[in-house]
Amino acid sequence: MARVGLSILCGFVFISAGVWAADFPKGQLPETVTPTHYAINLKILPEDQRFSGNVGIDVQLSKASNIIFFHGKDLAVQGAHVIVAGKKMEAAYEEIPQSGGVAKLTTDAVIPAGPARIEITYTAPFNRQLEGLYRSDEGGDSYAFTQMEPIAARLAFPSFDEPRFKTPYDTTLTVRQAHVAISNTPSIKEEKLSNELKTITFSTTKPLPTYLIAFAVGPLDVVEWKAIRKTEIREVEIPLRGITARGKGPQIKYALENTEALLVILENYFGIPYPYEKLDLVAATDFAAGAMENAGAIFYREPLMLFDDKASLSQKRRYALTHAHEMAHQWFGNLVTPAWWDDIWLNEAFATWMEYRTAQEWNPKGEYGRLNLTGSLGAMGTDGWRSARQIAQPIASNDDISNAFDSITYEKGGGVLSMFERYYGAEQFRKGVKLHMQRYRFGIATSKEFLQSIADANGDTQGVAAFQTFLNQPGVPFVRSELKCTKSGAKLNISQSRYALAGEPGDAPRPEQTWQIPMCVVYGDGSQRKQVCEIVPERSASIDLKAEQCPAWVMPNADGAGYFRFALNNKDWDALIANASQLTEKEVLSALDSLDAAFTAGNVDVDKYLERVKALLRSKGSNPPWDIALAPIGRLTWIKDNLVSEETRGAVKTLMSEIYGPIYDHLGLDPTSAMDKANAIQANLLRTPIVNLMALQVERADVRAELAKRGTAFLGMGGDGKINSRAIDASLAEVAITVAVQDNGEPVAEAILTHLKTERSAVTRSRLLSSLTRSTDKAVAAKARALALDTTLRGNEVPIMMYGSMREPANAADGWAWFKANVDALATRTPPTDRGDLAGIGTRFCSKGDRDDYAKFFQGRIDSMTGGPRTMAQTLEQVDACRILVQQQRRKADKYFSTRSGEKS
Ligand SMILES: [Zn+2]
Repeated sequence: MARVGLSILCGFVFISAGVWAADFPKGQLPETVTPTHYAINLKILPEDQRFSGNVGIDVQLSKASNIIFFHGKDLAVQGAHVIVAGKKMEAAYEEIPQSGGVAKLTTDAVIPAGPARIEITYTAPFNRQLEGLYRSDEGGDSYAFTQMEPIAARLAFPSFDEPRFKTPYDTTLTVRQAHVAISNTPSIKEEKLSNELKTITFSTTKPLPTYLIAFAVGPLDVVEWKAIRKTEIREVEIPLRGITARGKGPQIKYALENTEALLVILENYFGIPYPYEKLDLVAATDFAAGAMENAGAIFYREPLMLFDDKASLSQKRRYALTHAHEMAHQWFGNLVTPAWWDDIWLNEAFATWMEYRTAQEWNPKGEYGRLNLTGSLGAMGTDGWRSARQIAQPIASNDDISNAFDSITYEKGGGVLSMFERYYGAEQFRKGVKLHMQRYRFGIATSKEFLQSIADANGDTQGVAAFQTFLNQPGVPFVRSELKCTKSGAKLNISQSRYALAGEPGDAPRPEQTWQIPMCVVYGDGSQRKQVCEIVPERSASIDLKAEQCPAWVMPNADGAGYFRFALNNKDWDALIANASQLTEKEVLSALDSLDAAFTAGNVDVDKYLERVKALLRSKGSNPPWDIALAPIGRLTWIKDNLVSEETRGAVKTLMSEIYGPIYDHLGLDPTSAMDKANAIQANLLRTPIVNLMALQVERADVRAELAKRGTAFLGMGGDGKINSRAIDASLAEVAITVAVQDNGEPVAEAILTHLKTERSAVTRSRLLSSLTRSTDKAVAAKARALALDTTLRGNEVPIMMYGSMREPANAADGWAWFKANVDALATRTPPTDRGDLAGIGTRFCSKGDRDDYAKFFQGRIDSMTGGPRTMAQTLEQVDACRILVQQQRRKADKYFSTRSGEKS
């Protein structure tokens, strides 16, 4: 699954300890019954409220019993029986209340050990919250799509809804004559049932877990594309199609066109052909996740698949990355599946790590090469909290399943894989991956088995032991390093602990932790750059730098490849920064992160932090690589909004303007600058965030005036009233509309609301919606909030409005009051698996008063939200970290900025 933005998934609780005396399995199902095959027959008419079906599940009992536990949720069962050796036994079906969808089948007579077949006839409501088999209305049509991962297949059909049960499926779908039906395999037969209806039979699938089963039904456009050609490792072509809502077919061309190249890179990496019979790319009209890797029929949000001729570079980049991610899952996850959700990192960390390397290989000039690093540096933010999960987190409840799809699993996991790839060497690591895929193809495997494959392919166990210290404990290793030169040579003395934020309140001190860290240290030996690598297994260690003389500088994390943060003493920082021109781009990014980590840990004051950041940026010249240039923006904005007093804000804007104004002046708004001619991608990647900064944070008048003009033109105001995508480059459309609605108020808001009534492009809709939430006009902000509960909005648009309502500091108080008053209504518009995101609403709070009010509001309700407790704990930690840092640094920050402006005047 591909995550969306910063969301942390969770939903309503299904398991409450102790209250339910009923005897049912609360974690995994018993080992005694194993499914071996499913026959699924469903009638899906998306305009209806319900669908109906019958399902036959062949099972194998290892022990005689008259009870079978499996899954089924909100199913109205009309008939159930068990067939043993041709003999039919009536069975009673019962969904256990408050169990999260555990179902129980009871027969009068005992079912003997051996094979049996369960048959169930039922109806169920089309889900309206983007889970299970759900209905989505768009452009006057109704469609049905599915999202089964992690535990929603039970809403669509009775099943053993756990990843370890992989079986073949035979599916038939009865649908309207005029409709298209898609599933995991090609259709092999179509029969007319009546003038109205037809039945489509799909070929038998390869062994699949329930969470990878997919259906799409409705008046869909089907774009047949040329098949993916045979290669040296694949003897057959792969039929390729694009599936979209009615009328949107032509927009999926770009996605289809680039699929073969991405897929072949993945095949070559694994050395194993794409494992399924065909590949359909399905652009779902409404979808909760970013995308879902259903075997042979990958589902995406529309913006990831549908492009017009003015599509922005960032939209195309998201396509390449997400598409590579989902296709990587066809091996990692689909071909070899984790046995249980505690190993979901085997899917998601790998797909994340593969998406970056695949995109980089696909387009070597595309600036994808450092995204794995910046992703894992981002995850260190979350991993710095006391409440952080570990990558391989034990699963005790549905809360834990929900929480498992977070940045720790995806981005930290990707970073840790990257570290061990470097440790083994890319080719050696690939050998291990390949061996693993071959050993377990079409089966299941655990973390332990994966690590064994890596060890076997490399004849090495030391790396595997080190790997486990990163999988099985939370937190970021914090490595204090000090260069010592004596007569006997140069050493780097290091000590490790778990990284902690400044002045953590309340709880007991963190337990001591150590990791076995594969460290490569790089240093300047005369005019040479030298490197030593070793695994550091102890709390304290000393690394011999094989230097001819005392190194002029030392960087403890060569190429930023290690998943850790480092601290240096003042002298070593000064030396590193003075020699920063000798660092690689990744090393500068890693150093910027460690500087920020020192600031948030309370180890360095704001003045010193800012001076070092500025010096590091300068070391990369007047035109630093885009990601280096952009790295400090988040912290600078936080300093402006939270740290300094009201009177000092202007001085922070001045600093922002000093750093970024010159880059903006080079770039301008149109992609015609000298920088665009020299390096169009770098220019584009810089332009959107820097224009955003200059317009929305620095509030530079000339930038805002021009954007407001273009924004109103984009909306067709003063013209024909239609969207005019020529008014501004697509990558700046959102900021232009935002400034227009902020500066010109009500009329612009009305124009946006009018467009929303008819606009069908998900990309344009999200720009319009997001801009509307940025208006600080009280009446407009209230209208924007009300839209979140308007049923004409798509389900996946609700979070844009909900979180948007807190985004502008000026709107936050009204937004919070509105949220509290409407939380139940907002919950019903949110997929149960996403409902814990609601507890993330407070992440921007930074005061004691707001914190206490937030805590009081959620206290009574959080236990009834799956995954909610962790989301709430993390939010509180974030708020505490913010207010404690403000307490410690505000006076110093105000002083620093007043001295700076004094110097200038
Ligand atoms: Zn994924």
